[in-house]
Amino acid sequence: MNSAERTAFVSQLAALRKKRLILWSVFISYLPAISLALILAEGQAAAITVGILWLLAAGGAGVGVSFSRCPRCGQFFHMRGLTTSWSRHCQHCRLHLNSTPEDAEDVA
Ligand SMILES: [Zn+2]
Repeated sequence: MNSAERTAFVSQLAALRKKRLILWSVFISYLPAISLALILAEGQAAAITVGILWLLAAGGAGVGVSFSRCPRCGQFFHMRGLTTSWSRHCQHCRLHLNSTPEDAEDVA
């Protein structure tokens, strides 16, 4: 793996970790966001609006994570067939999210 490939590998895994962080942040934000909407606004319209926005954000973040490619094998990192697993290993080559370029060269 040359220097450019190493740089691309590291940046692809960093982008994947960032997408996962965004996804988990969206998931964790649900209850605080709904609670704030209910407390700060009168009626349920604000909570419904926040809920719809949250669903859109969660869907977008989930799709972004699910369709991310593995920098080693090029397959979808989290998807195998029609199933999605948001584990920390590639569903095809078992590359870990925190792998180094040296790990990527140890292809089984
Ligand atoms: Zn892979």
